[in-house]
Amino acid sequence: MRIARFSIDGNVAFGAVEGDPAPGKEGELVLDVIKGIPYADFELSGVKLPLSKVRLLPPVIGNKIVAFGRNYADHARELGNEVPEEPFAFLKPTTSMIGSGDAIEYPAFSSELHHEAELAVVIGRMCREVPRERVKDVIFGYTCANDVTARDVQRREKQWARAKGFDTACPIGPWVETELDTGDLAIQCTVNGEQRQLGSTSQMIHSIEDLIVNITEAMTLLPGDVILTGTPAGVGPLNVGDEVAVTIQGIGTLTNKVIKRG
Ligand code: MG
Repeated sequence: MRIARFSIDGNVAFGAVEGDPAPGKEGELVLDVIKGIPYADFELSGVKLPLSKVRLLPPVIGNKIVAFGRNYADHARELGNEVPEEPFAFLKPTTSMIGSGDAIEYPAFSSELHHEAELAVVIGRMCREVPRERVKDVIFGYTCANDVTARDVQRREKQWARAKGFDTACPIGPWVETELDTGDLAIQCTVNGEQRQLGSTSQMIHSIEDLIVNITEAMTLLPGDVILTGTPAGVGPLNVGDEVAVTIQGIGTLTNKVIKRG
């Protein structure tokens, strides 16, 4: 099931996306409005809205975004970094999240903004110290994310709170796909239609299981929390006016324009 979060006429709700999300057919997609919050048992209301009439929001309500760095060897090397033996995590604040169609605001303190296309895992239940064999039980679904990074600030500052945590630095969506085999999915990033990144989730150094075991050794995850699993090679600059799109096989496309922060 594909689950979106949206607003229409000042109301916010979740909905199940029905129809074929193939490029060119997005206009025919319909939302069946969900009663309640989808991480627990929920019901479809039967109230249907055309997807084209709503504003898509980040498809999660969570407490935190845990992002893993350098989880694809080619990407670690392209920035001159060693491939880490252990996963390493950092946090992005939830205030950095925007939905598909929202604008990435180029911050004034950077002059080198980069895209990073990533598979995002959405957590479905409160969990800590999750054993490897139980990881599947705590996952709600998967979506596309862009770990937008002020690369110049990242180089300059030891902690990445500003470089990767500024408002709009975490586009996520367009919806959560709850049934997906993530073993070998194409992950692509285009800027103005031109391909910049193309990799496969099969190239991850540390698996989704490894990442969730690693982070839950340290902290409790809550429903709606998001795990960013790293980006393949090909990261590069974003400029004001660009349109950046992250497409993951079996999920869909997350599209955002870059504007100057006003
Ligand atoms: Mg990243």
